[in-house]
Amino acid sequence: MMQNRVGIIGFPLTHTLSPAMHNAAFKALGMQDWLYDKMEIPPDIPRHAVEEPRRHGYIGLNITIPFKETSMRYCVPDDKARAIGAVNTIDFRNDVGTNTDVDGFIGDLEAHAVPMKDQTVIVLGAGGAARAVVYGLWQQGATVLVVNRTLQRAQEMLSQLTFSAGVTSAKAVTLDEAVEHNPSLIVNCTPVGMYPNVGESPWVDGIELPKGITLYDTIYRPAKTKLMQTVEQRDGRAIGGLGMLVRQGAKAFEIWTGKVAPVDVMMTVCLEELNKRNNN
Ligand code: NAP
Repeated sequence: MMQNRVGIIGFPLTHTLSPAMHNAAFKALGMQDWLYDKMEIPPDIPRHAVEEPRRHGYIGLNITIPFKETSMRYCVPDDKARAIGAVNTIDFRNDVGTNTDVDGFIGDLEAHAVPMKDQTVIVLGAGGAARAVVYGLWQQGATVLVVNRTLQRAQEMLSQLTFSAGVTSAKAVTLDEAVEHNPSLIVNCTPVGMYPNVGESPWVDGIELPKGITLYDTIYRPAKTKLMQTVEQRDGRAIGGLGMLVRQGAKAFEIWTGKVAPVDVMMTVCLEELNKRNNN
Protein backbone atom coordinates (compact mmCIF):
# COMPACT_ATOMS: atom_id res chain seq x y z
CA MET A 1 0.00 0.00 0.00
CA MET A 2 1.28 3.52 -0.86
CA GLN A 3 1.90 5.43 2.34
CA ASN A 4 0.96 9.10 2.60
CA ARG A 5 3.59 10.37 4.99
CA VAL A 6 3.51 13.54 7.06
CA GLY A 7 5.47 14.32 10.19
CA ILE A 8 7.05 16.77 12.55
CA ILE A 9 10.57 18.22 12.47
CA GLY A 10 12.13 19.81 15.54
CA PHE A 11 14.69 19.42 18.28
CA PRO A 12 14.20 18.06 20.83
CA LEU A 13 10.95 16.17 20.21
CA THR A 14 10.80 14.14 23.39
CA HIS A 15 7.52 15.63 24.58
CA THR A 16 5.60 16.17 21.36
CA LEU A 17 1.96 15.02 21.37
CA SER A 18 1.58 15.47 17.61
CA PRO A 19 2.38 11.91 16.40
CA ALA A 20 -0.11 10.36 18.84
CA MET A 21 -2.74 12.97 17.98
CA HIS A 22 -2.47 12.64 14.19
CA ASN A 23 -2.06 8.88 14.04
CA ALA A 24 -5.16 8.50 16.22
CA ALA A 25 -7.04 10.79 13.85
CA PHE A 26 -5.98 8.70 10.82
CA LYS A 27 -7.07 5.54 12.60
CA ALA A 28 -10.43 7.01 13.63
CA LEU A 29 -11.19 7.93 10.01
CA GLY A 30 -9.98 4.57 8.61
CA MET A 31 -7.03 6.22 6.83
CA GLN A 32 -4.64 3.26 7.07
CA ASP A 33 -2.54 4.65 4.23
CA TRP A 34 -1.56 7.74 6.26
CA LEU A 35 1.32 7.91 8.73
CA TYR A 36 2.70 10.71 10.91
CA ASP A 37 6.42 10.48 11.76
CA LYS A 38 8.56 12.17 14.35
CA MET A 39 11.88 13.47 12.96
CA GLU A 40 14.33 14.90 15.44
CA ILE A 41 16.84 16.89 13.37
CA PRO A 42 20.03 18.57 14.62
CA PRO A 43 19.42 22.34 14.88
CA ASP A 44 22.36 23.26 12.64
CA ILE A 45 20.90 21.74 9.43
CA PRO A 46 17.62 23.66 8.96
CA ARG A 47 17.58 23.32 5.17
CA HIS A 48 17.90 19.53 5.28
CA ALA A 49 15.21 19.42 7.93
CA VAL A 50 12.69 20.63 5.32
CA GLU A 51 14.22 19.42 2.08
CA GLU A 52 14.92 15.80 2.98
CA PRO A 53 11.30 14.97 3.82
CA ARG A 54 10.23 16.82 0.65
CA ARG A 55 12.71 14.78 -1.43
CA HIS A 56 11.45 11.57 0.13
CA GLY A 57 7.89 12.25 -0.98
CA TYR A 58 6.31 13.48 2.25
CA ILE A 59 2.94 15.20 1.74
CA GLY A 60 3.67 17.81 4.37
CA LEU A 61 5.27 18.72 7.66
CA ASN A 62 4.66 20.24 11.03
CA ILE A 63 7.54 22.37 12.20
CA THR A 64 8.47 23.18 15.75
CA ILE A 65 11.35 24.70 17.71
CA PRO A 66 14.04 25.52 16.49
CA PHE A 67 12.97 25.43 12.82
CA LYS A 68 9.82 27.59 12.77
CA GLU A 69 11.56 30.78 11.64
CA THR A 70 14.30 29.29 9.42
CA SER A 71 11.78 27.14 7.51
CA MET A 72 10.26 30.32 6.04
CA ARG A 73 13.18 30.26 3.58
CA TYR A 74 12.41 26.77 2.28
CA CYS A 75 8.71 27.17 1.45
CA VAL A 76 6.27 29.77 0.15
CA PRO A 77 4.95 31.43 3.30
CA ASP A 78 1.31 32.59 3.18
CA ASP A 79 0.07 35.89 4.66
CA LYS A 80 -0.32 34.43 8.14
CA ALA A 81 3.18 32.95 8.24
CA ARG A 82 4.67 36.14 6.86
CA ALA A 83 2.83 38.25 9.42
CA ILE A 84 4.07 36.11 12.30
CA GLY A 85 7.49 35.39 10.83
CA ALA A 86 7.19 31.66 11.52
CA VAL A 87 5.85 28.56 9.75
CA ASN A 88 4.48 25.52 11.59
CA THR A 89 2.85 23.65 8.70
CA ILE A 90 3.95 23.01 5.11
CA ASP A 91 2.04 21.34 2.29
CA PHE A 92 4.66 20.04 -0.16
CA ARG A 93 2.12 19.70 -2.97
CA ASN A 94 2.18 23.49 -3.41
CA ASP A 95 5.05 24.27 -1.02
CA VAL A 96 2.87 26.72 0.91
CA GLY A 97 3.89 27.24 4.52
CA THR A 98 1.37 28.56 7.02
CA ASN A 99 1.03 29.09 10.75
CA THR A 100 -1.84 27.14 12.28
CA ASP A 101 -1.10 28.35 15.84
CA VAL A 102 -3.31 31.35 15.06
CA ASP A 103 -6.16 29.07 13.93
CA GLY A 104 -5.64 26.89 16.99
CA PHE A 105 -5.80 29.78 19.41
CA ILE A 106 -8.69 31.69 17.81
CA GLY A 107 -10.58 28.45 17.16
CA ASP A 108 -10.36 27.46 20.81
CA LEU A 109 -11.52 30.89 22.02
CA GLU A 110 -14.47 30.60 19.65
CA ALA A 111 -15.21 27.06 20.86
CA HIS A 112 -15.38 28.49 24.39
CA ALA A 113 -17.52 31.44 23.23
CA VAL A 114 -15.00 33.99 24.49
CA PRO A 115 -15.73 37.42 22.97
CA MET A 116 -12.84 39.16 21.21
CA LYS A 117 -14.26 41.94 19.08
CA ASP A 118 -13.91 45.36 20.73
CA GLN A 119 -12.49 43.74 23.88
CA THR A 120 -9.31 44.81 25.66
CA VAL A 121 -6.94 41.87 26.07
CA ILE A 122 -3.74 41.60 28.11
CA VAL A 123 -1.14 39.31 26.52
CA LEU A 124 1.64 38.18 28.87
CA GLY A 125 4.88 37.44 26.97
CA ALA A 126 6.43 38.50 23.67
CA GLY A 127 7.91 35.29 22.21
CA GLY A 128 6.73 33.06 19.38
CA ALA A 129 3.39 32.12 20.94
CA ALA A 130 2.60 35.75 21.79
CA ARG A 131 3.25 36.79 18.21
CA ALA A 132 0.59 34.38 16.88
CA VAL A 133 -1.83 35.31 19.67
CA VAL A 134 -1.46 39.09 19.20
CA TYR A 135 -1.90 38.75 15.44
CA GLY A 136 -5.02 36.60 15.84
CA LEU A 137 -6.59 38.90 18.42
CA TRP A 138 -5.90 41.95 16.29
CA GLN A 139 -7.57 40.26 13.32
CA GLN A 140 -10.60 39.59 15.51
CA GLY A 141 -10.92 43.28 16.38
CA ALA A 142 -9.49 43.27 19.92
CA THR A 143 -7.31 45.95 21.49
CA VAL A 144 -4.18 44.22 22.73
CA LEU A 145 -1.92 45.29 25.59
CA VAL A 146 1.33 43.33 25.66
CA VAL A 147 3.09 42.95 29.01
CA ASN A 148 6.55 41.41 28.96
CA ARG A 149 9.40 41.01 31.44
CA THR A 150 11.61 42.73 28.86
CA LEU A 151 9.58 45.71 27.66
CA GLN A 152 11.91 46.29 24.73
CA ARG A 153 11.23 42.81 23.34
CA ALA A 154 7.49 43.53 23.42
CA GLN A 155 8.06 46.80 21.58
CA GLU A 156 10.18 45.03 18.96
CA MET A 157 7.54 42.33 18.47
CA LEU A 158 4.85 44.96 17.92
CA SER A 159 6.99 46.97 15.48
CA GLN A 160 7.57 43.80 13.49
CA LEU A 161 3.86 42.96 13.47
CA THR A 162 3.07 46.51 12.33
CA PHE A 163 5.64 46.20 9.57
CA SER A 164 4.75 42.66 8.46
CA ALA A 165 0.97 42.77 8.80
CA GLY A 166 -0.11 46.36 9.50
CA VAL A 167 -1.07 45.43 13.07
CA THR A 168 -2.30 48.53 14.89
CA SER A 169 -4.30 48.83 18.12
CA ALA A 170 -1.69 46.87 20.07
CA LYS A 171 0.81 48.40 22.44
CA ALA A 172 3.44 47.40 24.98
CA VAL A 173 2.71 48.52 28.53
CA THR A 174 3.49 47.61 32.13
CA LEU A 175 1.13 45.31 34.02
CA ASP A 176 -0.13 48.00 36.41
CA GLU A 177 -0.95 50.19 33.41
CA ALA A 178 -2.65 47.29 31.58
CA VAL A 179 -5.09 46.43 34.40
CA GLU A 180 -6.40 50.01 34.38
CA HIS A 181 -7.77 49.59 30.86
CA ASN A 182 -10.69 47.37 31.90
CA PRO A 183 -9.50 44.14 30.22
CA SER A 184 -11.95 41.25 29.77
CA LEU A 185 -9.35 38.63 28.81
CA ILE A 186 -5.78 37.74 29.80
CA VAL A 187 -3.70 35.37 27.65
CA ASN A 188 -0.59 33.84 29.19
CA CYS A 189 2.05 33.28 26.52
CA THR A 190 4.97 32.79 28.91
CA PRO A 191 6.17 29.37 30.08
CA VAL A 192 5.88 30.48 33.71
CA GLY A 193 3.91 27.87 35.68
CA MET A 194 4.63 25.08 33.21
CA TYR A 195 5.58 21.62 34.47
CA PRO A 196 7.75 21.05 36.51
CA ASN A 197 7.60 24.64 37.87
CA VAL A 198 3.91 24.35 38.73
CA GLY A 199 4.13 26.63 41.78
CA GLU A 200 5.08 29.68 39.67
CA SER A 201 2.81 32.34 38.21
CA PRO A 202 3.52 35.05 35.62
CA TRP A 203 1.26 37.50 37.51
CA VAL A 204 3.27 40.09 39.40
CA ASP A 205 2.78 40.10 43.19
CA GLY A 206 1.19 43.28 44.49
CA ILE A 207 -0.94 43.94 41.40
CA GLU A 208 -4.57 43.03 41.86
CA LEU A 209 -5.88 40.47 39.39
CA PRO A 210 -9.15 41.86 37.94
CA LYS A 211 -12.22 40.08 39.36
CA GLY A 212 -14.38 37.95 37.08
CA ILE A 213 -11.88 38.03 34.22
CA THR A 214 -11.34 35.27 31.62
CA LEU A 215 -7.85 33.76 31.38
CA TYR A 216 -6.55 31.72 28.47
CA ASP A 217 -3.35 30.01 29.56
CA THR A 218 -1.46 28.61 26.56
CA ILE A 219 0.25 26.15 28.93
CA TYR A 220 -1.36 22.67 28.90
CA ARG A 221 0.85 20.85 31.38
CA PRO A 222 -0.37 21.08 34.10
CA ALA A 223 -4.01 21.19 32.99
CA LYS A 224 -4.65 23.84 35.66
CA THR A 225 -1.79 26.27 36.26
CA LYS A 226 -1.28 28.36 39.37
CA LEU A 227 -2.52 31.43 37.48
CA MET A 228 -5.65 29.57 36.36
CA GLN A 229 -6.35 28.67 39.99
CA THR A 230 -5.90 32.28 41.12
CA VAL A 231 -8.30 33.51 38.42
CA GLU A 232 -10.94 31.00 39.49
CA GLN A 233 -10.53 32.03 43.12
CA ARG A 234 -11.39 35.56 41.97
CA ASP A 235 -14.63 34.45 40.28
CA GLY A 236 -13.04 34.33 36.85
CA ARG A 237 -13.02 31.75 34.09
CA ALA A 238 -9.82 29.88 33.22
CA ILE A 239 -9.17 27.90 30.04
CA GLY A 240 -6.00 25.82 29.54
CA GLY A 241 -4.01 25.59 26.30
CA LEU A 242 -4.65 21.99 25.22
CA GLY A 243 -7.47 23.07 22.90
CA MET A 244 -5.09 25.43 21.10
CA LEU A 245 -2.60 22.62 20.57
CA VAL A 246 -5.26 20.20 19.32
CA ARG A 247 -6.88 22.76 17.03
CA GLN A 248 -3.58 23.82 15.44
CA GLY A 249 -3.04 20.12 14.71
CA ALA A 250 -6.59 19.78 13.38
CA LYS A 251 -6.02 22.64 10.96
CA ALA A 252 -2.80 21.03 9.67
CA PHE A 253 -4.65 17.70 9.32
CA GLU A 254 -7.29 19.41 7.18
CA ILE A 255 -4.67 21.08 4.97
CA TRP A 256 -2.92 17.76 4.24
CA THR A 257 -5.90 15.42 3.98
CA GLY A 258 -8.78 17.65 2.88
CA LYS A 259 -10.91 15.95 5.55
CA VAL A 260 -12.58 17.39 8.63
CA ALA A 261 -10.33 16.53 11.59
CA PRO A 262 -11.83 14.44 14.42
CA VAL A 263 -11.06 17.06 17.08
CA ASP A 264 -12.65 15.05 19.92
CA VAL A 265 -10.52 11.98 19.13
CA MET A 266 -7.39 14.14 19.00
CA MET A 267 -8.25 15.81 22.30
CA THR A 268 -8.90 12.48 24.04
CA VAL A 269 -5.60 11.02 22.87
CA CYS A 270 -3.67 14.07 24.08
CA LEU A 271 -5.34 13.84 27.49
CA GLU A 272 -4.45 10.14 27.69
CA GLU A 273 -0.83 10.84 26.75
CA LEU A 274 -0.56 13.61 29.33
CA ASN A 275 -2.09 11.37 32.00
CA LYS A 276 0.44 8.64 31.21
CA ARG A 277 3.28 11.13 31.65
CA ASN A 278 1.88 12.43 34.92
CA ASN A 279 1.75 8.87 36.26
CA ASN A 280 5.40 8.18 35.38
P1 NAP B 1 9.53 32.04 23.84
O1 NAP B 1 9.58 32.48 22.42
O2 NAP B 1 10.75 31.56 24.50
O3 NAP B 1 8.96 33.29 24.70
C1 NAP B 1 8.78 33.20 26.08
C2 NAP B 1 8.21 34.52 26.63
O4 NAP B 1 7.97 34.32 28.02
C3 NAP B 1 9.15 35.70 26.51
O5 NAP B 1 8.38 36.84 26.28
C4 NAP B 1 9.82 35.75 27.88
O6 NAP B 1 10.18 37.05 28.32
C5 NAP B 1 8.71 35.28 28.78
N1 NAP B 1 9.27 34.63 29.98
C6 NAP B 1 10.03 33.53 30.03
N2 NAP B 1 10.37 33.23 31.31
C7 NAP B 1 9.83 34.22 32.07
C8 NAP B 1 9.84 34.48 33.46
N3 NAP B 1 10.46 33.68 34.32
N4 NAP B 1 9.15 35.55 33.91
C9 NAP B 1 8.50 36.37 33.04
N5 NAP B 1 8.46 36.17 31.71
C10 NAP B 1 9.12 35.10 31.23
O7 NAP B 1 8.45 30.90 24.02
P2 NAP B 1 7.12 30.62 23.15
O8 NAP B 1 7.47 29.75 22.00
O9 NAP B 1 6.43 31.91 22.89
O10 NAP B 1 6.29 29.71 24.15
C11 NAP B 1 5.79 30.23 25.37
C12 NAP B 1 4.82 29.25 25.99
O11 NAP B 1 3.65 29.19 25.22
C13 NAP B 1 5.33 27.80 26.01
O12 NAP B 1 6.04 27.53 27.15
C14 NAP B 1 4.05 26.98 25.93
O13 NAP B 1 3.60 26.67 27.22
C15 NAP B 1 3.06 27.92 25.29
N6 NAP B 1 2.65 27.49 23.95
C16 NAP B 1 1.50 26.78 23.84
C17 NAP B 1 1.04 26.39 22.61
C18 NAP B 1 -0.25 25.63 22.52
O14 NAP B 1 -0.58 25.13 21.44
N7 NAP B 1 -1.01 25.52 23.59
C19 NAP B 1 1.75 26.73 21.45
C20 NAP B 1 2.95 27.44 21.59
C21 NAP B 1 3.39 27.81 22.83
P3 NAP B 1 11.53 37.80 27.85
O15 NAP B 1 11.23 38.38 26.51
O16 NAP B 1 11.73 38.83 28.90
O17 NAP B 1 12.60 36.73 27.82
